[in-house]
Amino acid sequence: MEAISVLDIFKIGVGPSSSHTMGPWRAAQRFLEHLRTLGLLERCVRVRTDLYGSLAKTGRGHATDMAVILGLSGEDPVTCEVEGLMARVEAIKSSGRIRLRGEVDAEFDSDADLVFNFDKVLPYHANGIRFTALLDDGRRIVQTYYSVGGGFVVQEGEKPTGARAVSLPFPIEVAEDITNHCRARGLDIPDIVWANEQRWRSDDETRAGLWKIWRVMQECMHRGCHTDGILPGGLEVTRRARGIHDKLIADDATPETRRNIKAWIDAIKCSGRRFDQVLRWVSAFALAVNEENAAYGRVVTAPTNGAAGVIPAVMLYTWCFTPCDEDKIIQFMLTAGQVGILFKKGATISAAMGGCQAEIGVSSAMAAAGLTQVLGGSVGQVLMAAEIAMEHHLGMTCDPIGGLVQVPCIERNTMGAMKAILAASIAMDSDPSKARVSLDGVIRTMWATAQDMQAKYKETSEGGLAVNVSVGIIEC
Ligand code: SF4
Repeated sequence: MEAISVLDIFKIGVGPSSSHTMGPWRAAQRFLEHLRTLGLLERCVRVRTDLYGSLAKTGRGHATDMAVILGLSGEDPVTCEVEGLMARVEAIKSSGRIRLRGEVDAEFDSDADLVFNFDKVLPYHANGIRFTALLDDGRRIVQTYYSVGGGFVVQEGEKPTGARAVSLPFPIEVAEDITNHCRARGLDIPDIVWANEQRWRSDDETRAGLWKIWRVMQECMHRGCHTDGILPGGLEVTRRARGIHDKLIADDATPETRRNIKAWIDAIKCSGRRFDQVLRWVSAFALAVNEENAAYGRVVTAPTNGAAGVIPAVMLYTWCFTPCDEDKIIQFMLTAGQVGILFKKGATISAAMGGCQAEIGVSSAMAAAGLTQVLGGSVGQVLMAAEIAMEHHLGMTCDPIGGLVQVPCIERNTMGAMKAILAASIAMDSDPSKARVSLDGVIRTMWATAQDMQAKYKETSEGGLAVNVSVGIIEC
């Protein structure tokens, strides 16, 4: 049976988009690896990249050109230095040369070799990318890839999900499988997900992997809460996380809280727990991540970059404002990750396929499930929380202004986080046996809604806010 790991859902990377930045970046790396395997990389004198569909339409705002250039030049989104990324890209563009994989010198004319095909969509998926390598003897090697959401990439002809053939002790295709496994064995959701993860790696490796992701999330929130200014891209969007943060932390801010994440989190815990304070903290956490994401910073794809703020915000809320420990954070991530896998298998996590319900909606459902697990919810309540969170994102369109992952994206993460917390609260007070809508039912509904949604609302910037707002002024 095909399987997806939780560590495939949470990926460390670079903003602003998982499908339009991370995916093309990985596709470029895969293409050059293919040439290397064929023994043809050294003979390559030029690479042309064609972007199709949504990748072309919102590619410039989503930094797809940057991602392709960095991928071809051998940088990796997990390990690259995020400081000065754009300057490195501009240097390559102006030099007219690129070092493929950092090894082979080739010509590069960004106008001719990076082509945005605005009017063409490849048949398999809205995010198509085709590489053509020109060899020194005139031959051409062509490969086509699809960025299918959440940074997953498939080559033409491959399976669509990015899933791998691994035999799991608890195979899960739909939410009902989770219920059945847990009931049959008397286990909780994190137990069965953990057992599945053991098929990929040791317990220590899984724990270290999840812990690293949580650390990158915290670093991202800390950085975003201590950075102000205007976001890149020309929309002149002002960062707001820092302003909210500074008012909240006020007297507790010290040089140590600015330097040290643990001291910072301790200060947050002491800063007050009134409803309005907690609400603003969650907003600050989510805004911080997505402002970093918009500024090409390091984020965790969860399950996408546009929605990268929801889960860290709810996790830090859980850590600071509920009874929580390290084991519970792991339980949160396992549970949330498994819910993300359900949506990936049963619907989509690609905005180009399903609109924003596939990004913010899925991240909110994942966070709601994770939080409910930490709060001690039953299996039914955990799944119910995910269902509630998605139910109230159904039909949400993707219409980023200027093709940038800024408006409405950044604020949407605060909304997704708050809905997740509320969904968990409702589920904890509910009897799931009396629920009228199941998680499987809402996943099917989301996929049906995605298929009915007009193409202009699927990450094209041809509908909604993207065409009704001009430089921040609503024209309706
Ligand atoms: S509107 Fe939603 S789906 Fe579209 S780019 Fe923004 S966050 Fe992503």
